[in-house]
Amino acid sequence: MPSNKFPTNPPRSNSNPDLRKGRGGLCRRNDQRGGKKCLVCGLVVGLLGLGVAALAPASEPPRASYSSILWNYLETLTDLGPRNPGSPGHSQTRDLIRRVGGDFADRVVERPFPVKNGEETLQMVNLELQFRGTTPGRPVLIGTHYDTRPYADEEPDSRLHSRPILGANDGGSGTAVLLGLAEFLHHHPPSRPVHLVFFDGEDFGPKNSGVALLGSTQYARRLVASVDQEQWPYCVLVVDMVGDRDLQIYRETNSLKSAPWLVDILFQAAREKKLPQFRDKVRYTIYDDHYPFIKIGIPSALLIDFDYPPWHTLEDTLEKCTPESLFAVFSVVVEALGRI
Ligand SMILES: [Zn+2]
Repeated sequence: MPSNKFPTNPPRSNSNPDLRKGRGGLCRRNDQRGGKKCLVCGLVVGLLGLGVAALAPASEPPRASYSSILWNYLETLTDLGPRNPGSPGHSQTRDLIRRVGGDFADRVVERPFPVKNGEETLQMVNLELQFRGTTPGRPVLIGTHYDTRPYADEEPDSRLHSRPILGANDGGSGTAVLLGLAEFLHHHPPSRPVHLVFFDGEDFGPKNSGVALLGSTQYARRLVASVDQEQWPYCVLVVDMVGDRDLQIYRETNSLKSAPWLVDILFQAAREKKLPQFRDKVRYTIYDDHYPFIKIGIPSALLIDFDYPPWHTLEDTLEKCTPESLFAVFSVVVEALGRI
């Protein structure tokens, strides 16, 4: 989740007194290892999920297998180290998304866009895993950002501000949930088409630079410029920072204004599942990847836990997250998909 706000000057998110920040640790490992581990684990748990899922209703993903699947993806992502644009971890994350898409999606679409960064031009890429669904129609877009923040600028020690965060929760958790969804949707085709979109450049620019939400802004601009409105997403659901072991998700204000019915579906599903992580109260106004879609009139909602002390610090590490939190959000999204 970006610290800067939407580039075209929305109301400032930190004008909301509720908005706070949060702490993090660096780890960088050999990517070969991460890649191989993922491939092997993905295959094993994938087969396991297939066996159990065949017995379960489509809206009830088996907890044990999908908790493991989601957690394995998050471990694999954090093993890659920081995943800020231009880093090795960033390109290896793209490879992972491509590989999962190749295994599970009906179609993988890459949407590159150049971003000027000082003297250099970075090639950023939105990656989209498409599932055609059993009935034709406008797709449900489920999105998250896969980039991590290049600056640990919420560290109390300003000498650490230039270091990239690991982003287990901020960048990792949403990506893990969407990769798990790809496996689930492969085994349980949805009714409506579903497009899982992994946005780049969400957390890119320095604080208050306005250089944030780059991938989602680019995606929304492309819709406006070149896509018939009849083909636009039916709605957009963004997940971000959903791995915190003390997960607390509230109804977010921008989502409530844009798609109250979608927020209702999500919280109703959580209530029926008796998930304590979902707090049925309104809290926070957040400018995340759902906001560019709200601006062009597509009903859009965000699931986020912004009560996360390690936010934008070197302490945003794997041990701050749990499989239970990932699975809670994953199961609510799966349930909601059946009701949209
Ligand atoms: Zn962030």
